[in-house]
Amino acid sequence: MAEDFWAPVFARLVEDYEFLDMVTNDTAENDLVSWVKPNRALFARCARFIKKNRVLDKPALAREMLAYARNDTSLRKVILFTWVEKNALTMEFPTLAVTEEIESQLQSGRFGSPAKVRILAKLDPRDGVKPLYERVLATFSAVPALADSGAPHFVDTLAGNSGADRDEASTKLAQRVVELEKLLEEFKTDSRQFKKQLEARQEEIKAQNRRIEDYSRQLKDADAAVQTLKNESAGLLSRLKFLEQQSVQAQPVSEKAPRADVSEQLAAMSEEIAALRRAVDNRETTIRRLEGEKSALAAQQVADSEKDRQLAAMRQRLAELELSAAGAASRLAGHLLSSRREPDGRRNWLFLSISGRVVFVDGSLVNRTALVSDEFCLLYLDSAGRALALESLESDARREICGCIEASGDELFLLADSQSFRVQVEIAASLVETPVRGIWLPEFAERPAGIYRVEALAPHSLSANVQKSADSKQIKTLFRVSHLNFDRFLELLEQQAIWHSVRADGSLAFSADYREVLEPLRMHVRIPRFCDNADCQTRAQAEAMARPSVQGQRCDFCGSISAVTVTEKKQFAGQRVLIFGGDYVGSEYERVLSGH
Ligand SMILES: [Zn+2]
Repeated sequence: MAEDFWAPVFARLVEDYEFLDMVTNDTAENDLVSWVKPNRALFARCARFIKKNRVLDKPALAREMLAYARNDTSLRKVILFTWVEKNALTMEFPTLAVTEEIESQLQSGRFGSPAKVRILAKLDPRDGVKPLYERVLATFSAVPALADSGAPHFVDTLAGNSGADRDEASTKLAQRVVELEKLLEEFKTDSRQFKKQLEARQEEIKAQNRRIEDYSRQLKDADAAVQTLKNESAGLLSRLKFLEQQSVQAQPVSEKAPRADVSEQLAAMSEEIAALRRAVDNRETTIRRLEGEKSALAAQQVADSEKDRQLAAMRQRLAELELSAAGAASRLAGHLLSSRREPDGRRNWLFLSISGRVVFVDGSLVNRTALVSDEFCLLYLDSAGRALALESLESDARREICGCIEASGDELFLLADSQSFRVQVEIAASLVETPVRGIWLPEFAERPAGIYRVEALAPHSLSANVQKSADSKQIKTLFRVSHLNFDRFLELLEQQAIWHSVRADGSLAFSADYREVLEPLRMHVRIPRFCDNADCQTRAQAEAMARPSVQGQRCDFCGSISAVTVTEKKQFAGQRVLIFGGDYVGSEYERVLSGH
């Protein structure tokens, strides 16, 4: 029965001293002695009831022990739980459904003596069984039922009983003992049988294995025998052939030789031939028989290993399923979002799948492809979710365009072939007004059409001159602004933790090329546009940087749309370009240049 069923019952009973008194009186004397003796204080109180490990007055000892146990919960628990543990048969009663049969069993002592039944009556928490206990206990009423009359202590019911009842009880007990011994014997027999069966099964398996080994061996032997007989038969056949040839040759000789002699010789040869034929026939019969046996053995072996093969097939199928399941989870569609440089100098890219999953992709993996940011691609992952490879989904639609970068307001365009393509990514200022190669991607989902990567066509000429300092004019050019508030700009550098120092001439010194150092600022600073309005121009002065709005653009201060005309557009056509490495630039470049 479940722990939580008994827990509240035991919690109540461990405080019930009348009940505990019954229990203590129903506990074996040596148990009581073993609890009293090690406890000095308790032993001092109880010593008078114990003599040489024998209890002189059990009810009195029980009273004394419980008086002491009022301040010792653990002793009370020991008394209660020892009884519960040692009276498993009695404790079984509350777990059984109440029937007339079970009632008569309880009465007959099947679940223990009347003393135990009295304890049970207090212990059993089921409400519906109270009348049953009352009926059963009433049958014990010949005995002065102290528990029922609320007496403070308990006397062994048997002791107070008449001699006849005692005899009856002991007869019942003896019967019970016999019954139990019989049950134990049956149980032992059963377990012996199970053990035997188990051993028999193991033997069977061993025998089966031995049979399989035997089959294999017999198969081998049969193979060898067949081979030997085949060889023998071949030998006999060749001997037969030889003899036949000889007999044919003997024919012409016989013309000259005496006839009788020849015919004698022929007869002998014929006889030998016949004998050899018979031998060959016998051998062939044997071979056929052995072949038959061999195939029977092979069939038997196949049947024996059928289970193994089924198992192997299932394992393989499982492996395939696992593989295909892994394969399905190993691809993501999405695009490269942005890149960041790790402290150790490696560049990592952030991949965003269409479903919104984010994966970090190592820069070296991206470098192996021609992918640009925002280009839709497939990311292949291994089972641990690490990026393995990237494959463009737009390789058919993307175009490589060569031309010149042109600024128009704060927008950049790639001019090529008298067409202009909007540049959708931040690029280095040094690329403006130089020949470049751009990657154009079509409009797709949220992404507008435009140039998504710009590379200089002669990259080595750009890195030639590193400038670690810049004056405000150069900074203005870099950011393509008309207005620069130097103090605000310095604040900005502080905010972004860009190392710098102001030199005597008012220019700024940096730790590396100023274009490289200042480039990341674009990501963090908003450059407002302003109109001709004097008020707007004053407000623009307070910004770190600002640029005038061009035609069609909105002033960020007053919101009016500017009517200023666009600055003249430069044409790439007619400019001379030195080509470094045709392979690097690609066929597209040649195609475009051929138009100029
Ligand atoms: Zn304005």
